[in-house]
Amino acid sequence: MAYDSESEFVDEDVYDEEDFDDMDLDDEDDDEMSMDEDEVEDEDDFADIKTDSRKRRIFETPFKVLSVSEIEDRQREMASRVSSVLGITKAAAVMLLRLFKWHEESLVERYVEDPDRIRNMAGLSVDDDSSSTAKNATNVIVAAPEGYMCTICCKDTSDVPGMKTFALSCGHSLCTDCYDYYLTEKIRREGEVRRLRCPGDPKCPLLVDEPAVKALVSPGTYEKYREMVDKIFVEDAELLAWCPAPDCEYAIECPVRQADLNSHVPTVTCTCGNCFCFGCGLQDHMPCTCALAKRWIQKCHDDSETSNWIAANTKDCPQCHSCIEKNGGCNHMTCKKCRYEFCWVCMGDWKMHGSAYYNCGRYDDKEAKKARSEQEKSRAELERYLHYYNRYANHQQSLRLDKETFHRVEKKMREMQEESGMSWIEVQFLTQAFDALRASRHTLTWSYAFAFYLQKGHITTIFEDNQRDLEMATEQLSEIFEQPSSDLVSQKVQLLDKCAYVTNRRIIMLEHAAQGLANGTWEYTVTV
Ligand SMILES: [Zn+2]
Ligand SMILES: [Zn+2]
Ligand SMILES: [Zn+2]
Ligand SMILES: [Zn+2]
Ligand SMILES: [Zn+2]
Ligand SMILES: [Zn+2]
Repeated sequence: MAYDSESEFVDEDVYDEEDFDDMDLDDEDDDEMSMDEDEVEDEDDFADIKTDSRKRRIFETPFKVLSVSEIEDRQREMASRVSSVLGITKAAAVMLLRLFKWHEESLVERYVEDPDRIRNMAGLSVDDDSSSTAKNATNVIVAAPEGYMCTICCKDTSDVPGMKTFALSCGHSLCTDCYDYYLTEKIRREGEVRRLRCPGDPKCPLLVDEPAVKALVSPGTYEKYREMVDKIFVEDAELLAWCPAPDCEYAIECPVRQADLNSHVPTVTCTCGNCFCFGCGLQDHMPCTCALAKRWIQKCHDDSETSNWIAANTKDCPQCHSCIEKNGGCNHMTCKKCRYEFCWVCMGDWKMHGSAYYNCGRYDDKEAKKARSEQEKSRAELERYLHYYNRYANHQQSLRLDKETFHRVEKKMREMQEESGMSWIEVQFLTQAFDALRASRHTLTWSYAFAFYLQKGHITTIFEDNQRDLEMATEQLSEIFEQPSSDLVSQKVQLLDKCAYVTNRRIIMLEHAAQGLANGTWEYTVTV
């Protein structure tokens, strides 16, 4: 699949709207886990998808940013549906959904098969919610009957006039002060909201539900409880994730599942501007899959400094292959292990160097050549890694430098605006061009990690050709920014042309890579 750069320029308006639910990453239909129709009916629901004015590209991911109130709406909507389908209270529905990690369909299916077992697992009473009220009043706060004594604090109605009590459907009642104390400790100190067990009897399997918590604890503690409930809801629900940016309160809803991560890289952008991977929470790492990105980061963390140092400062002994460090300028090396003496420059036997003590004149000697080619072989894997690592690190560094350049340009532009009365709109193209540059640098960075793990072959060659084209275009765009700021405005057309070209080269490379992921055609040098 070869790309012609010119023909790839597309008119963004010719594409039709595409809906969130059109995206199907699975080969086979997975009924149990598919998105519920109700959630995708409304087109406005996914207005956050940047690309809604045209067809989504294969490397792009549908997603929606959710605020805290929308996160709570999601929970309420699901609880309402389950509550009406199963004929149970909403509070019970929440506890059941939590047990099933908010997989509505599998909950309903399993509940219908064996409601008692499922209710038991969720810490709900096995009796129906309504029938248990026949005994003493449960699940409501009531005035303690005359002579009542709380089993925890051992106070009775004569110690505490107007004492109130609470019990779950099990009937294990405590005074409300003890209940409040117990729940507050659990929530505030232990951070527990999932399994708030009935405090009335250690053997009781029932869990305290939300209405009870709300009725028993202070408003401040209840607010804390709600926060934690939202937190675990987003963590538990497979199609939701928190934005990992510090202090960001948004969550992302995205239909890409863990099982899809080897065939798609779900890059999403939060309202706060953070562009990250929905699958693993790392910064965007297209075209690398999550597994490769994780592996690469670990490898760089473990190896890069050491590998660079080894490559620059050591050689392997031509005789026993142990690693030898060169210290000092002398080229006469003696292996500490096997005592073999050789020349650092030509890798040949030192004895053959005769009187030319400090100069190696034997570089083309047959025996020395053979020693060097063996050296190369043993170092090939290291060199290969460094080839990719150094390019990866170089683009990372350039990204930082480009940012500095841009800030300088931006400052200059503001000054020029003030002096010449140029409008803000007139200099906006610079921001646009810089965004294109930054996106390309970022993609290039990760393209080297991806290429490192690719087996040689036809599609790898195409990928590396695309990578080279993007790299050249990116460097040219970067160079334009290096010019004196005063010249930049006059080069608007040239800059925007280059910017469109870079953007297009990036799309071509990412589309090719994503197509390969979707079709499973990439072959890696490692098993993932
Ligand atoms: Zn008590
Ligand atoms: Zn109980
Ligand atoms: Zn965010
Ligand atoms: Zn990822
Ligand atoms: Zn040796
Ligand atoms: Zn030599």
